[in-house]
Amino acid sequence: MKAAFLTGLRKIEIRDAPEPALRRPADVLLEVETVGVCGSDMHYYKAGRIGCQIVEYPWIVGHECAGRVMEVGPEVTRVKVGDRVAVDPLVHCGRCDQCRLGQIHTCRHQGFLGCPGQLQGSMCERLVMPAASCFPIPETMSTTQATLCEPFSIALWAAKLADPRPGQKLGILGSGPIGLTVLAACKLAAECTVYQTDLIPGRMDMARRIGADWVGKADEIDVVEQIGIAEPLGLDVVIECVGEQETIDQCLELVKPCGKVVIVGIPEADRLSFEMNHMRRKEVRIQNVRRQLGQVERAIELVAAGEVDLDVLVTHEFDFDQAQEAYDLVAEYRDGVVKGMIHLDGGS
Ligand SMILES: [Zn+2]
Ligand SMILES: [Zn+2]
Repeated sequence: MKAAFLTGLRKIEIRDAPEPALRRPADVLLEVETVGVCGSDMHYYKAGRIGCQIVEYPWIVGHECAGRVMEVGPEVTRVKVGDRVAVDPLVHCGRCDQCRLGQIHTCRHQGFLGCPGQLQGSMCERLVMPAASCFPIPETMSTTQATLCEPFSIALWAAKLADPRPGQKLGILGSGPIGLTVLAACKLAAECTVYQTDLIPGRMDMARRIGADWVGKADEIDVVEQIGIAEPLGLDVVIECVGEQETIDQCLELVKPCGKVVIVGIPEADRLSFEMNHMRRKEVRIQNVRRQLGQVERAIELVAAGEVDLDVLVTHEFDFDQAQEAYDLVAEYRDGVVKGMIHLDGGS
């Protein structure tokens, strides 16, 4: 089969790879149809690492995908050959203390698609996953929508941890695919007012379309001052979807006393600092978000029911042999890109 390998910094080559085969009785062989380009993939593409996870070349990246079931192991009951499925990129062990507590997203022996040293990614024609990671989608749902259920499930989990209440004031810093889906998820969770920021005008427009009540361009205005004028008491919850020191600083300034800061963004730096005056005097609660837990089915239901329109996020579509082009576009934030989708089957 063909697979897209990272072969160096900012280098992708389509090469032949061994045909994957079922290994365990609960495994499923999938024909991958669509793969999304994620901001986290960009860390591997541009920097060759996220923290201690360092790419050893050649390496297949990609973790947002959907496809069709080609073969199932003898113990598989939840999907059958021919089913179209959304894929949860996490494979958990089922035995460790975290798994036994139901916290499979922090499994101690987890494998995640495209994570160096764990599992090769999904930018390949065929993929083997445990049935537990495969979620059937309705006939009416496109594979693009099914692929978007992965980032959307992270947004649903972030919104669950942010736990907005009706009438609350929220800040969402960053309007990439995650910031925008977090916005959609928070608006679904409660009737709240959302102050959203970004640097890219196209993403700001999209935030307005999805329902942000106020959108600010963070390099042109003083975000803290402007939101402070509108909300002198501060914000109940501020959700960081960038991963930069500057936005962490803004969170601590914007949040009201006893408010909550939710961190979703993945920093390129190993360490970020938290201004202790604000932390201490406001008794700020910090909540980190690790991917998602148990939200994929809900994501599929909400998309299928038309409760949320994720298609608007897809600004660019590519064929498999354009993978490098897709990654470059996202890496350089060119041409107003929000979400790039790669179609391995040539369709959409
Ligand atoms: Zn992702
Ligand atoms: Zn485990």
